[in-house]
Amino acid sequence: MPAMRRAKPAVRRLIDPLQLAQGLIRCASVTPADDGAQDVLADALAAEGFAVHRLPFGQTPNLFARIGTGSPHFCFAGHTDVVPPGGGWRHDPFGGVVDDGVLYGRGACDMKGAVAAFAAAASAYLAQHPSPRGSISLLITGDEEGPALDGTVRVLGWMAAEGQIPDLCIVGEPSNPRFLGEMVKVGRRGSLNATVTVSGVQGHAAYPKRASNPVHPLIAALAALTSARLDEGSAFFEPSSLQVTSVDVGNPAFNVIPAQAAARLNIRFNDLHTGASLSGWLRDIVGRHAPGATVEVQVSGEAFRTEPGPSLDRVCAVIERETGHVPLRDTSGGTSDARFISRYAPVIEFGLVGATIHQANECVAVADLLALSAIYEAIVRDYLG
Ligand SMILES: [Zn+2]
Repeated sequence: MPAMRRAKPAVRRLIDPLQLAQGLIRCASVTPADDGAQDVLADALAAEGFAVHRLPFGQTPNLFARIGTGSPHFCFAGHTDVVPPGGGWRHDPFGGVVDDGVLYGRGACDMKGAVAAFAAAASAYLAQHPSPRGSISLLITGDEEGPALDGTVRVLGWMAAEGQIPDLCIVGEPSNPRFLGEMVKVGRRGSLNATVTVSGVQGHAAYPKRASNPVHPLIAALAALTSARLDEGSAFFEPSSLQVTSVDVGNPAFNVIPAQAAARLNIRFNDLHTGASLSGWLRDIVGRHAPGATVEVQVSGEAFRTEPGPSLDRVCAVIERETGHVPLRDTSGGTSDARFISRYAPVIEFGLVGATIHQANECVAVADLLALSAIYEAIVRDYLG
């Protein structure tokens, strides 16, 4: 009688947050490149039983992975692209080197580290809850640091069409300024870019009556814009701020009145304004001081805020329990993909310490990486039971 062949019990290997973070960092995924980063993540999630949907839009790789189909549906959102490394690194920015308990690499905290920490958290949770009550998903884009046109915003459209909108979303942006547990982001200011162009009539500086100098009305308009106070801040936001970021005349001569002058400016605005209200305000002020000037406006994000409520309170309570710190609920900083998600679901941002993001020698303490993974796991356990 032939010997019975016994099936070996499947050995379950948990996702290791450090190994996965290193695997992701070793892909040089400077926006819009991917360099295999999403394959690394997709393979790890598929091995856990996630249904992985690759969702490329235009040149942008994206993925949505979900395990379970029930509710509540908890989603983690993040990105695998990174900003260029620049110079001045102690270690290869795409080497994933650990030196003295610190993991170095572009994306270590913004935000491959957090992506790996969440995947590991899900893996640890699923090991204890093989058929979870609700479902866990990851919304990952390869274009957060770039124009963000074919990334999260497009994936959300797909998710809405497929009935995959979550009940709560955590974005893994590095929300903590100095230490883990210090801060969650519960909203972001809006951002608006504008170019003001004034046309005049070129001429000799000695005969100004025969010319029309566009620089003078441009200066007057900018003076009016920069001396205006947009607001005094709101209950949850700091005051809005207008910054002139460039004044461009490009005139090499002292004795020529130029034909054109332009300026660029950026407004970071709170929930007392919208992109549309500020565009109207800009055109009005500019029109008064520089009649005929053109104002081109591009709104890259509206201000948004996560309503206070039980979901937010519970996430903050878990962070406090795990770290011993009561996280500050803050709305400062630049925009993030949370601005798109907030149109569909309550969204909270919590990730690693952001002290070295977008700098040479971006790094994360391995202990922080493991601690963040444990916090994410505790948040999922608290939310799904
Ligand atoms: Zn980021």
